[in-house]
Order: sequence, then C-alpha cells, then structure tokens
Amino acid sequence: MIFSDKPKEECGIFGIYGPGLDVARLTYYGLYALQHRGQESAGIAVSDGRVIKLHKDMGLVPEVFTDEILKSLTGKMALGHTRYSTTGSSLALNAQPLMCYYSKGMIALGHNGNLINTGEIRSRLAAEGSVFQSTIDSEVIVNLIARYSQNSVEDGIKKMMAEIKGAYSLVVMTENKLIGIRDPWGVRPLCIGRLGEAYIIASESCALDTVGAELIRDVEPGEIVIVSESGLTSCKVDAPDRKAVCIFEFIYFSRPDSVIDGYNVNEVRREMGRQLAREYPVDVDIVIAIPDSGTTAARGYALERGIPFEEGLMKNRYIGRTFIQPDQAMRDLAVKLKLNPIRSILKDKRVLMVDDSIVRGTTCGKMVNMLRDAGATEVHMCVSSPPILWPCYYGIDISDRNELIAAKLPVEEIRKCIGADGLHYLSLEGLLGIFGSPRNLFCTACFDGDYPIDIPKTEKVGKFILE
Ligand code: SF4
Repeated sequence: MIFSDKPKEECGIFGIYGPGLDVARLTYYGLYALQHRGQESAGIAVSDGRVIKLHKDMGLVPEVFTDEILKSLTGKMALGHTRYSTTGSSLALNAQPLMCYYSKGMIALGHNGNLINTGEIRSRLAAEGSVFQSTIDSEVIVNLIARYSQNSVEDGIKKMMAEIKGAYSLVVMTENKLIGIRDPWGVRPLCIGRLGEAYIIASESCALDTVGAELIRDVEPGEIVIVSESGLTSCKVDAPDRKAVCIFEFIYFSRPDSVIDGYNVNEVRREMGRQLAREYPVDVDIVIAIPDSGTTAARGYALERGIPFEEGLMKNRYIGRTFIQPDQAMRDLAVKLKLNPIRSILKDKRVLMVDDSIVRGTTCGKMVNMLRDAGATEVHMCVSSPPILWPCYYGIDISDRNELIAAKLPVEEIRKCIGADGLHYLSLEGLLGIFGSPRNLFCTACFDGDYPIDIPKTEKVGKFILE
C-alpha cells in the first residue's frame, strides 16, 4: 500500500446501562469517540427489558445513524460497536453487534480482538448441527454462550471462556443485563465508567469522557462485570500468572486522551520520545513529526534535547475512506496529497523526523525525499517503537511476515533503503522501562516473537495460516 503504512486498528465497543437516559444517543457519541478503532461498519443494539432492537450497516458512525434511527432505538441499555475486520470479510453480514435468539431469550454481542482457535470450535459446532450466518470469530462466541446458558448467562459465559483462546474484550447484552468481559491475559483494553446512576463499559476511557462519564476502573483480565437492576457485580475466571496487555495500544492504537490500565497514553508517548532522545541524541536543528501518529513522541524528543519542535509537515485531514487511490504513474502524488512539507520551516535545516512505527516501509523513503526536496540538509528518522518482526495473532492486522520490512532487512539496510542520514528504533528495553513494570505485564510479540497465548500449529488465524 502506498498510501498508508500503519497497522489497522481493531474494533471499538461501548455499552451503557442507563434506565431513563437516551442510551442510543449516548452510545452514538461513545462510538464517535471510538471511531479510530474501526471505520468499516457500525451498529447499536438497544434493550427495553423485553426485546432487543438492532441497527447496523457499513460505514462510519455518522453515516450509519440518522436522527430518525436513533429516535427509534429506545430502551434502558445499549451496546454499540465499530469495526475493522481482522477476521471475516468487510461485509454488512459481518458487522456487529451480533444478535440472536436462544432458548432463554435474546442476546447481543460486540467483540474486540481475535480468537486463535475459532476454526477448531466452528468445525465442531458445525458437525453438531450449528449454522453460522457470518464468517467472523465473534459468532462462535455468541453460539457458545447461547449453548451453555441453560442455568444463567453468567454460567454460559464462563463455559464459553473455558473453550475459546485468544484476545477478546466483549460486551454482551441480554434483555436485562449488560456484561463486560476481558480475556484472561487482558490483551485488549476495556474499562468501566459511571454517569450518574448509569454504568458504561467501553474500549477506551476517551469514550467515557466524551459522554461526561467518570472512569471507575479497568475490567481486570479474566473478569466478568455484570450490570443489572441490582447494580454492578463481578466474578472472575482463572487467569494466568502474567498479563499480556497489547503494548501497541500505547504506541499507536489508542487515543492519546485515554487512560489504559492506569497509564495515560499521552504521557507514555511523550516518554517514548524522551527515551528516543536518550538513545539517539543526534545534532539537529529541528524535530518534526509525521502527524498525527508521531506528534506526541516528537514533542517528547524535542523537550528532552531542548531542540525546537516544528510542524514541518502539513496533514490534509479531509482524505476519507472513499479516496480514489492514485495509479502507479501517480504514486508520489499519494503521499503529497496526505502530507505536504512546509518549505520555510525545513529549508537549510538538519531535521529529525519521528513516527510511531514502520510496517512495510513503503512511505518512509518518499517522506525523506520530500524533506530533502523542501531544503532539509540532513534527515534523521526516529521510530517510537522497536522494529516489527512478527505477525500479530490477537486482533491487529499485522499479518504477513514477508510484508514486514524489519523482518527482511537489518536497520542499517532499512536506513539506506529510505535514504535517511540516520535511523533509530526505540529499544524494547527502553519502551518497557517507561512503564517501570516487569516485562510480563505486556504482550510484545510483534517485536520479540514471544507469544503469550500459544498459537495452535494448524490453526488458520485471521488472514494468515501458520506453517
Ligand atoms: S503481537 Fe503486537 S500488536 Fe499484537 S497484541 Fe501483541 S503487542 Fe499487540
């Protein structure tokens, strides 16, 4: 891809239990705040205590919902989802929340993450007579909950969790309960908030801020949080003795105004920049960022070294999903459409450019050339993450090792390839040191290949198949 060299986000989920409130509209605003986590489809399900109503479609949140639609979604609780497809195709059929009828009533589910044993469970369920309407792993989850909920939905969830493997943050809604679930490793974020008497469960705390709610705490790994007319209760399944929170949430995916597992994302990103400055203290005149993903770390670098941070690249913020990709003859135009250098800032300057990550390395060379054409006399690049060497099996679209430039070339070769005067990636030790925590709190598998949740050798996972 010439236009974007970023891993794709996963999904955003937002649930609210709020009798007396306009729960559909609050969910709409919550999903708006989570739009960065998925732009392919959006949906909201509401329950009035008797039935669950659902509206979902392909598109951004404001494209899927009109005022009329929101007015028709009345109830005492709601569940919203915004999706980027990590498993299953980008089809309306695969949009979430999923909703189904089962022997005890109705159930709706929104999922963020990726299971690694879906194929095995799906085959077994199909052999036993289950039918599936979609190709997504989330349908396996809802099928298992429905199948095991003869005594109670909580019981069904625990049995489902004993069977599935992988990364999952879920919000489940029955006619009378809103339930938040985080996998036993806590790979994907999920937090709980309070808005007056109402409770909210959301992927990121920025969604709570947006609707005026207060962050109470994160859902713990392996925890099941149940909100009903009795208030909030919680139970846990056995969790491993390590956590594996996705460290990429802090590097790129989550919004800087979110707080995840007690860490302020903005502060973490600034520290990444400061650490880069300690690891690579090069003499330059200005520090610039590839906006917006590199901005906070670039400011951190500039602060640490006492060098001016400048906006050397202007981002066009009006390029949406419907942008027509330029053909081969216009490849260079694609980058310039999105980012244009400001000559008066760059001319005759030694420049350090910061970005959060390099996946395929397809745009970096063009960026370096653009800066030189705009008059920069030296161009150094700093990356606020370690080299990405391994695919992600837990819900991020980093799928093929052959596409990862750092898996194919050593750093010095990448530097030559992109034509920079210097290139430095943040060290893994430097990254982990920012959290001041033992290594076993985070998943760092795409950097070191240390997968916290074993990948079955024969399992087809997302868009790739293991050898
Ligand atoms: S492999 Fe990388 S992107 Fe995937 S969950 Fe682990 S840290 Fe996150």
